[in-house]
Amino acid sequence: MNELEKIDPLIFDLIQKEADRQNKEINLIASENYTHPAVLEAVGSILTNKYAEGYPGKRYYGGCEYVDLVEIQAQERCKKLFEHENYDFHVNVQPHAGSQANMSVYFAAMKPGDVVMGMSLAAGGHLTHGHSANFSGIVYKPVQYFVDPLTEELNYDAINDLAQQHKPKLIVAGASAYSKIIDFKKFSEIAKNCGAYFLADIAHIAGLIAAKLHPSPIGYADFVTSTTHKTLRGPRGAIALCKPELKEQLDKAVFPIMQGGPLMHVIGGKAVCFKLALENSFVEYQKQVLENAKIMAEIFKELDYRIVAGGTENHLFIVDLRSKNITGRKAETTLQTAGITVSRSCIPYDPEKPWITSGIRIGSPAVTTRGFKIEDCKQLVYFIDEAIKNHENEQKLLAIRSKVQELCTKYPLDKWL
Ligand code: PLP
Repeated sequence: MNELEKIDPLIFDLIQKEADRQNKEINLIASENYTHPAVLEAVGSILTNKYAEGYPGKRYYGGCEYVDLVEIQAQERCKKLFEHENYDFHVNVQPHAGSQANMSVYFAAMKPGDVVMGMSLAAGGHLTHGHSANFSGIVYKPVQYFVDPLTEELNYDAINDLAQQHKPKLIVAGASAYSKIIDFKKFSEIAKNCGAYFLADIAHIAGLIAAKLHPSPIGYADFVTSTTHKTLRGPRGAIALCKPELKEQLDKAVFPIMQGGPLMHVIGGKAVCFKLALENSFVEYQKQVLENAKIMAEIFKELDYRIVAGGTENHLFIVDLRSKNITGRKAETTLQTAGITVSRSCIPYDPEKPWITSGIRIGSPAVTTRGFKIEDCKQLVYFIDEAIKNHENEQKLLAIRSKVQELCTKYPLDKWL
């Protein structure tokens, strides 16, 4: 019997149940993944015992000689992962989460009340890009850009016009639900034209960028932030990068402005994640992520679903469900019954409220880690279609659930959980 089971059987039991759920259900949530057991070991290690406010070599606590080395490893590996032959950059591996990484950049680049311009949540952006319910829309003056109503893609001319009109201090590029390539060069020109700092939030696409399957913002963006737990497949956490000349501003914004002691166990996990992401197999994984997303979008189209922006060039896409007479919310619960986890999602200019939505977001990173290839992904979309068509028929949904579990048995998560 392990210690957790002995001391806290309730939490032990809930973790077992969650592991079982993860094993038996198919996860299509675009922002989730299964991190490697080596990462889990680092995150579950005694590094959690250590306080290390400050940065390597300059801490406010004694006994930091080993955690300094851990943090330096994480920084160096991260630098190698995103390295660019022409541009140097600084890496901060301390942000606790993507939101904190973004807050730190905002503090580094702006004063409260300054104008920040980001993609609207309703169009696929993130809360931290200027939503009125978030610090970014409360502390700063938000200006939001949308996607083009016809193409549902970013319209760089319209974004430039908006920037000229509002003269933001910081422009944010990046999204949580956008399926096309983001042109960081164009964003950097837009920012330069209006004298703004440029932040590329690559939380979703960091793994693709690391594998060189999506253009990198390094060299174009003043700041780059990312979570480490999505396509990067690391521990829950984040990183913030910047041009060398902004290092002091950024580091000060992360600590002491935004955060106190860094989570050294998570930084250990990030170091392991970056080591794994530097292996060739990670590039192969990301290629499969792209192929799996693409084939799923194609099969949906064959089955007469509309895909927002016409398809995908990354790890995710949004399915417009209106022609199937089901809301995103209903589809999410329907698929849950069938053993498939997805997140509902607004479509651009959605007639439904954000709690209901007209779409679902489908992502391939987790199933690809699991081992799914093209044929499995095709099968998966047929299951989804069958479930959506039979959303009123619980018996049918439970029958699909059995088939989903069979597919899961083919790719057990034993290695990962
Ligand atoms: N930025 C983007 C683009 C995201 O998609 C997310 C999370 O979904 C975040 C930032 C925030 O990350 P966290 O949930 O770790 O605060």
